[in-house]
Amino acid sequence: MKLKNKPRGTVDIFPPRSSIYQKIQQISSYVLKKNNYQLVIFPTYEFTELFTSSLGSTSDVVNKEMFTFFDRKGRSLTLRPEGTASTARLICQNKLVNSNNPLKLYYWGSMFRYERPQKGRYREFYQLGVELINASGIIADFEILRIAKDLLETFAIKDFTFQLNYLGSEKTRERYKKELKSFFSNKTDELCSDCQKRYQTNILRILDCSYCFGNFAFPSYQKSWDNEDNGYIEKLNQILDSDNFPYTYNYKLVRGLDYYTGLVFEVKLMDKNAILGGGRYDELIGKIGDKSLAAAGFAIGIDRLVNYLLDNFINNSTSIDIFFLALTEQAFPLIFTLQKKLKKYNYVSDYNLTIKKIKNPFKVLDYYLPRLTIIIGEEELKSDKILIKDCQKKKDFFVDSKKLIKWIDQYLTKSLD
Ligand code: AMP
Repeated sequence: MKLKNKPRGTVDIFPPRSSIYQKIQQISSYVLKKNNYQLVIFPTYEFTELFTSSLGSTSDVVNKEMFTFFDRKGRSLTLRPEGTASTARLICQNKLVNSNNPLKLYYWGSMFRYERPQKGRYREFYQLGVELINASGIIADFEILRIAKDLLETFAIKDFTFQLNYLGSEKTRERYKKELKSFFSNKTDELCSDCQKRYQTNILRILDCSYCFGNFAFPSYQKSWDNEDNGYIEKLNQILDSDNFPYTYNYKLVRGLDYYTGLVFEVKLMDKNAILGGGRYDELIGKIGDKSLAAAGFAIGIDRLVNYLLDNFINNSTSIDIFFLALTEQAFPLIFTLQKKLKKYNYVSDYNLTIKKIKNPFKVLDYYLPRLTIIIGEEELKSDKILIKDCQKKKDFFVDSKKLIKWIDQYLTKSLD
C-alpha cells in the first residue's frame, strides 16, 4: 500500500535539525532551573470549553484554528492550541498555589492550530512556555521579560528588540475599545468581512487581522493611558533602562488572545513572524478556578527559533567527536572497552558495525565527519600502538592503547580552547 503523505502543516523533524531541538530543550531547562522555574506537563488535549472560555470566543485561535473532535461518548475535546490555559487549569485543579508566594513554571510541547501553512507557520508546532503565577507588579513583569531575554541570549541571539505595549486596567482597555469604535464608525465597509463581525463582537481583534492591520492608521494605545498607566510605564522604563534592556513600544500590539490584561510583548527576528510573545494575564486563572491569581508569561516558538539559528549561524551538519574504525573483527573487543571508558566523558562516538573489504576503508569518514578517527587493525593490535587521525587538521598520532582515553580527552579539550 502506498501511504498518503503526512497531513498538511505537520513537519517531520530528523537529524541534524532534531539535534537543535534537543539542544534548545536541554539549554532552556538548565537556564530555567537555575532561575527556580519547574517543569509542568499537561495533556495534549483538553475539554474544548477550557479554550473557548479563556482565549476568547472571538479570537482567531478559537474561531478558526482549533482542532476539535468528539470522543466516543460525544464529549468535545480540542488539541491544545497553546499552553497558558492548560497551565492555569493544572494549577487550579491540583491546588498548586496555597501560599502568597509565586509559582514559577515552564512547559515544552507541541501545539496545534489550523493555520495556513508556510515557512515558520505550521499546524503542529513546538513551544517553550514560561509562566510566573501568583505574582503581580512591575518587578514580576520585569522578571518575565528578563527570563525571555536570558533565553534568547543563551541561544546566542544578539540583535533583538522587545516590542512592548501596555493594555492597562479594565478602564483603560474600555477607553481604547471606545476609541477604536469611533475610529471605525464611518469605515466599517472598508473592513474585511471577518473584521466587520469583529467590529460588533470584539473590536480589539481587528488589530490581529493581517489584512486590515496594514490598511488603517489605527489609533495609538498610548492615548488611552491615564495617570496610573503612565506612572507604570515610567517606572518600567526606568528599570529596563538601568538594565540596558533592548525595548521599544508598539502602541498597536494587543496579541491575539483575550486573556491579556497589562503588559504585552513580542520579539521579531528578521521577518514579520514573531519568535516569542507573552504578557500579563491577571484575570485568566480566576475564570478557570475558584481563586483569582495574578500571572504573567510568554512562549517561544521553537520551530521559528530553529529556522533562525539554522539560517544564521548553526552549521547544518552532523559530526561526531570520535570514530573507531575497525579494520579487523579482532578490533571490536578493544573498541567496546574503549567506549566503556569513554562513558564518563561527554563525547559522541561511533564505530563501523561490519568489516567491509573495500579499497578505501576511510570513505566511511565522509559520512560520520569525526574530529578524531581511531584506527584499529591487525598492526595496531599487535604493536599496541593505536593510530589516531585528526581529520580536520589532517595530522596522525600513534598512542599507547592504555593511554588512549586520557590522550583523546586532553587533545579534544585543548583543540576546543
Ligand atoms: P502565541 O501562543 O500566539 O502567543 O505564540 C507564541 C509564539 O509561538 C509565537 O511568537 C511563535 O513563535 C510561535 N507560534 C505561534 N503560532 C505558530 C505556528 N502556527 N507555527 C509556528 N510557530 C507558531
